[in-house]
Amino acid sequence: MTVPHEPLHTQQETLDPTDWVAFRARAHAMVDAAIDKMASTTEGRVWHEPPASLKASFNASLPMQGHGGDATQTMLTGLLPYGVGNTHPRFFGWVHGGGTPGNLIADIAAAAINANLGGRDHGAMYVEKQVNQWCRALFEFPETASGLVVSGTSIATIIALKTARDQCLEFASRSEGLAGAKLTGYTSTQTHSCVARAFDILGLGTHALRKIPVNGSFEIDTKALEVAIAADQAAGFTPFVIVGTAGAVNVGAIDDLEALADIAASRGLWFHVDGAFGALGVLSPRLKPRLSGIKRADSLAFDFHKWLHVNYDAGFVLMRSEAAHRKAFSERPDYLKGAERGLAAGNPWPVEYGPELSRGFRSLKIWTQLNEHGIDKLGEMVTRNCEQASYLAERVQEAPVTELLAPVAMNICCFRYVVPDYGVGQLNALNEEIVVQLQLKGIAAPSTTLLKGCTAIRVNITNHRTQFSDLDILLDAIIEIGAELAPQFA
Ligand SMILES: *Cc1c(COP(=O)(O)O)cnc(C)c1O
Repeated sequence: MTVPHEPLHTQQETLDPTDWVAFRARAHAMVDAAIDKMASTTEGRVWHEPPASLKASFNASLPMQGHGGDATQTMLTGLLPYGVGNTHPRFFGWVHGGGTPGNLIADIAAAAINANLGGRDHGAMYVEKQVNQWCRALFEFPETASGLVVSGTSIATIIALKTARDQCLEFASRSEGLAGAKLTGYTSTQTHSCVARAFDILGLGTHALRKIPVNGSFEIDTKALEVAIAADQAAGFTPFVIVGTAGAVNVGAIDDLEALADIAASRGLWFHVDGAFGALGVLSPRLKPRLSGIKRADSLAFDFHKWLHVNYDAGFVLMRSEAAHRKAFSERPDYLKGAERGLAAGNPWPVEYGPELSRGFRSLKIWTQLNEHGIDKLGEMVTRNCEQASYLAERVQEAPVTELLAPVAMNICCFRYVVPDYGVGQLNALNEEIVVQLQLKGIAAPSTTLLKGCTAIRVNITNHRTQFSDLDILLDAIIEIGAELAPQFA
């Protein structure tokens, strides 16, 4: 028995509150403010431009002395109205998810646990394993497949393509680099820029990614693909990967994934699918048949923060060959050695499947979303967004002043306001301005893109809050603003 003795040191200060009652009240006030924001998100303006005073308040000098919890909380609360607008039902820009109130609770729980998911044996790791298992089931990958929760499709793509690169070079590239290998990859002109960026980061160079033309539906031309691969082989290059897209960012086109899987299989190439938002189309009976090729992919990158409405950020990379995945990343120095028992158990660790060691508890948001709402309901939201895009396309085609610019493959509708006798330059400028006005007026927030030289008003619907009436509001506003602005562009 040790004898209680006088402490050697007096109690030292920590970063914890001295008054937990006051802290509890402050935390509850923030929870209330956050719920108020979420409960009222369907009302009012889509986007509030951050005021000059707010911008200026973030030019403060480095706080040598803390301002304390209350002053900090005032600043936090002041930030709440100035989101990008993606929680609003009429946010249609780029591809953003709307998030859910349930994820607010998950984030509080995750912050309380404050887990590091680089590895080791603790509760959070089992949540992550569950998410991995659900992803395999969702995309009909084998039980032996591996995966990693990441921040988004951009990093998921880097992880997948590094594995493809290393496998092609028999993993010597991990120590020797490319050593003169002339690797080439193939994708369509519609592919997201993160694929070229991955080629850059992986030392392959963006020119090694061959951009294959698309057909009238913006899907990769598979004949041109085969010609390009053969030409590169004849010229001494080493083709190693085909990247197909399930839901291309411009118009939502889905490549013929089965055909790409066949071509990759017949030539021994890695088949990667960028399914950032579109892969979740497998939840919808309407889209599922067109996505059957995903289950033949060697790797798939997709986001939970887009069409599954998980609050930012959460993406995933799914890999058919666990062995290749681990061989491309595993590097466990002595201080990270695993064990059979104790805290260092639970092997293999996520650190063996990606570039990061410390990793936050993103998987809790994902688990919460799937667990709370279930696949059936999340799938209904996907289907409804597609029906809404088709509905908008019908209205666009009916109206004499609007013109559809691309077929609607899933949830994206691209069109423009037209004025008879206006040239393409005038129409492009007019449509750019219509979109800016919609955003500034707070009515709706579509974005723009360029399709065959024409500026399109691009309406992406990955939003569980969007109602059909929101699309009426959008189109009516476009027609009104278009008529008002048209004379300025004459
Ligand atoms: C959003 C998107 C990406 C990039 O995903 P992040 O999560 O933003 O990194 C890649 N491809 C497509 C088709 C996308 O829509």
